[in-house]
Amino acid sequence: CGIVGVIGKKNTTEILMQGLEKLEYRGYDSAGIYVNDQAGHDYLVKRVGRIKNLEAAVDDSIQGTLGIGHTRWATNGKPSVANSHPHISNDERFYLVHNGVITNANELKRQYLLDIEFASETDTEVVVQLIALFAREGLSAKEAFRKALTMVDGSYAFSLVDRLTPDTLFVAKNKSPLLIGKGDGFNVVASDALAMLSETDQFVEMKDEEIVALTQDGIAIETLDGTPVHREAFTVKMEE
Ligand code: GLU
Repeated sequence: CGIVGVIGKKNTTEILMQGLEKLEYRGYDSAGIYVNDQAGHDYLVKRVGRIKNLEAAVDDSIQGTLGIGHTRWATNGKPSVANSHPHISNDERFYLVHNGVITNANELKRQYLLDIEFASETDTEVVVQLIALFAREGLSAKEAFRKALTMVDGSYAFSLVDRLTPDTLFVAKNKSPLLIGKGDGFNVVASDALAMLSETDQFVEMKDEEIVALTQDGIAIETLDGTPVHREAFTVKMEE
């Protein structure tokens, strides 16, 4: 399973697809991408099976400057298009990809989301619906994400898009891998640097229980309790 994300590049779709191929070794049963052109158009494609199946469904019309991609290793719910990621809140505002397992998803669902109709059987959808609920209650996307992160138990690497602010990619991790790749006028994320070495060799580590907002020229890292964190990039050497 794996995650990729891009902000600030014109060929986002290509970078996501290449990245997902590089993450194939991690294993997967389905895959999906979401791409937004920051000008009112966006695209969601999900397929069960090989990355090739997803590739066959992705054409040149899918263009954008913000995107997230996911390969799924099912833990909650069978492999199916409905259960594959990205998952969407019912108000269609938030798109979320997730690796890991949220162990208290059922409790959160019973406690906060009783009147929500779910499209999948995943723990991930619980989190995206929860973020949307907190946003409807008045929190910004970042604060809604932060609040959800303080409530979930288990493991996660998350990459979140708010369609209302498609200049920002939100990411966080806990016990699942996720790295930021720093570019010149763009930024990327991936479960493994390998997936983004074609774009940059500068990477910034993420620690557990941090929340990061990525824009095309900014990497803003904070702890979950709101303390800003400054962390230098390190160089990853490509192995021949
Ligand atoms: N728990 C999530 C699911 O079952 C994510 C699995 C993964 O790591 O790919 O969809």
